[in-house]
Amino acid sequence: MRSAGRAAALLMLIPAAASAAGAPFDFDRAPGRLPKDVVPLGYRLALVPDIAAMAIAGRESVALRVRSATRSIVFNSLNEKLSDVRVDGVAAAAVDSDDARQLTTVTLAAPLPPGAHTLAFSYVGRLETQPHGLFLQSYVSADGTAGQLLSTKMESTDARRMFPCWDEPAFRATFELTVTVPAAWATVSNMPVAQRTLHGALATVTFQRSPYMPSYLIEFTGGDLESVTAAAGATTVGVWAVRGRARDAQVALADAQLILADYDDYFGFAFPLPKLDSIAIPGGFGGAMENWGAITYNDRLLLLTPDSTLADRQAEFAVQAHEIAHQWNGDLVTMGWWDDLWLNESFASWRGASETDQRHPEWHWWQRQDAARDGALRADARLSTHAIQQPVADELQAANAFDQITYVKGQWVLRMLESYLGPAVFRDGIRRYLQARAFGNATTTDLWEALAAASGQDVAQAARDWTAQAGFPLVSVAASCDAGGARTILLSQRRYTLRAGERAPGRWSVPLRIRAGSAAPHTELLTRDAQPSAAGRCGEPLSVNADAIGFYRVQYDAATLAADTRAFEAVPDGDRTALLDDSWALALAGAQPLDAYLALLPAMGGNRDPRAWEQIAAALTTLGHYERGTRGHDAFAARARALLRPVYDSLGWDPRPREAPDAVRLRRALLTVLGELGDAGVLAEARRRFGLFLEDRRVIHPDDQDTVLGLVARGANAATFERLHSLAAAEKDASARRRYYLALMRVGDAALAARAARIALSAEIPPQDELLRLRLVGQLIDRHAALAWATLRDNADRLLAPFPKYAPLIVAEQIPEAYWEGAPPQEIESWVRGRLPAEMAPNIARGMESLNEQRTEKAALLPALDAWVARRAR
Ligand SMILES: [Zn+2]
Repeated sequence: MRSAGRAAALLMLIPAAASAAGAPFDFDRAPGRLPKDVVPLGYRLALVPDIAAMAIAGRESVALRVRSATRSIVFNSLNEKLSDVRVDGVAAAAVDSDDARQLTTVTLAAPLPPGAHTLAFSYVGRLETQPHGLFLQSYVSADGTAGQLLSTKMESTDARRMFPCWDEPAFRATFELTVTVPAAWATVSNMPVAQRTLHGALATVTFQRSPYMPSYLIEFTGGDLESVTAAAGATTVGVWAVRGRARDAQVALADAQLILADYDDYFGFAFPLPKLDSIAIPGGFGGAMENWGAITYNDRLLLLTPDSTLADRQAEFAVQAHEIAHQWNGDLVTMGWWDDLWLNESFASWRGASETDQRHPEWHWWQRQDAARDGALRADARLSTHAIQQPVADELQAANAFDQITYVKGQWVLRMLESYLGPAVFRDGIRRYLQARAFGNATTTDLWEALAAASGQDVAQAARDWTAQAGFPLVSVAASCDAGGARTILLSQRRYTLRAGERAPGRWSVPLRIRAGSAAPHTELLTRDAQPSAAGRCGEPLSVNADAIGFYRVQYDAATLAADTRAFEAVPDGDRTALLDDSWALALAGAQPLDAYLALLPAMGGNRDPRAWEQIAAALTTLGHYERGTRGHDAFAARARALLRPVYDSLGWDPRPREAPDAVRLRRALLTVLGELGDAGVLAEARRRFGLFLEDRRVIHPDDQDTVLGLVARGANAATFERLHSLAAAEKDASARRRYYLALMRVGDAALAARAARIALSAEIPPQDELLRLRLVGQLIDRHAALAWATLRDNADRLLAPFPKYAPLIVAEQIPEAYWEGAPPQEIESWVRGRLPAEMAPNIARGMESLNEQRTEKAALLPALDAWVARRAR
């Protein structure tokens, strides 16, 4: 209620005003297809879903403000048939709904004068079977009973599937929703229930009117649900799940309370709705959706059971921290148009990771995000990459902006800026931004202006280099020493690309964080070529990306690299991580010898930094994969095992009491790579434990099951495969079942792999795990690339159906990158092109660049690797 009052006051300001890249938000200049002469202020919407007919009967009334006289009203609709269309009670002259353009045009007999008017109509729409609009979700409970519920997923452009509306983010309005459902059902929406009327077997539920918000944040879920609730300040926090599963929601509830209170404080703006619900949907879609006051999650991200792993627990916290951050960055303040999607996603990713790191220091969460940072650097090194802010001409392409540049690069650019300006100044800027734009929309410029006001610095100049320009720099470091041993470095930059020798334009103001020896790091903005900087004493270790916070790569001169290698065991974890990531990337690119990277491995000494070992395990797995089937394979594998085995031996097979989360991670990474490299001891022990596990499930901790079962599957014969398969088919716990099915897909034997592919497509996968099928087929790639490709190609419609929003992006970018060995590049490319519209050519180019790069890397690295092994053997 405090929200509604405040919002009403702000609405009067619905601007006559302006936005484009480089300008503050302005309603009239916000991109979009809908004319801005008619603005919706408030919707009253009454829905009657009919599951038997898979249809929606709706009655809608929209309070409008007409800004200049017009005879037509244009808004979005899809698969809806409107009837009895009236404006101020007068029947419309004509109504044209065009499903191809997703627009309805209402034409009036006489021009509508400026001022307040009311549009009202009835309509019939569709209940969806896939997670967009209002959709029906089927599921099977642990006790074997089948159930169905209704839920929604609107972002980016699917609210129009549930009801005709102005479905662009700048058209904020209030929503008052009424739904008629079976009387036994519980119902959840953005706002609390205002009124519930029973009539026979049905109940009609009206929710309180929402504050001014964009249509893509509307939520409704109805079904056989139960909830747990608690208070967080003035807000009621609830977690909803299907009957029988609310007991698995207690951890999520406590975390939601904690996170909400932290954000009220951080943002300096109290959560404006009376309640915040989180809803665990069995299946539905893969992630979570930040609907204001009613966040929906795939239930595996929210509900925890005794069979859940540490990774499940971490995902539960981190995803909630991301989605709850959206309640401010996204919901309270929304990007004006999809070209600024990063204002939603990068922000929520950065804020969520910071919250997770602060509340769980034992998880070393930022360090855990380093693999994602490195992945985004790799994606952004493609010549075909794009800027964080990218034009989105038509909202129907908005979904293609949801990629790792938007989520991950943006997150790290914000972290880099926060580090550069200082956390307190940065927070002050964020508070100013939210305060200025609350219940409204914003552009990137609004953010820079708030940060500039908080810091007194021209933030926009430096920041735009990172959001308006594609790619990132490679910073090169050339050190020299004076007679007294003092070191000076000359810093230069050029755009980093996947292949050394490729040239592409780009210059950045680079906020460097420099640490020499054991001194505290200092920041420095790199703006000039050959910029000099004092850097401690010669021979000391040096990091120009201290703590691995920066979104750039660094190449050191030979003497500095040698000093860093000598001191490698003892340098701060983040500095070590940055050097490993960069040395590996430079080796893949052919910019630095592979030997420089491999020399870092023995230099780890007794260090047990899990991110470092994870990085090494991943690199050795890649090299082992490239070596597979070559003459050099066995010698390489023996060398790699010799490097890893001592680390593994020091950890042991069994978890120790009160073991740190890092040790759990490290054990998993090492077990997997050692098994992959054919370590006979590890493989035999995995088989032995699997035998015991069949008798007693407690023998293998849930955290280790994925790894151990994967190792067993790798060498499984038909009998072992069937045992694993029976476990999967009989399992009632959703997380354990997913682990068993994923393990099956790692089988080494070709005939059994073909059987695994059939299982991935079979009816034994329950309906709420429909999303899992694509991942199962993906697991086959490593050992059976051609089989995986053929399975995907021949079943793509079915495998991609649960991803209606992301399917085009998956096909264009992820499939070529992942299935690069499955078929000749031309075959993959022509298949991809055949499935996608022409405007996705830039996305296809990115996918194909990744595919071709892996082929190039493999060919270039193998000789260098064999030479390294041969030298070591001598
Ligand atoms: Zn998000």
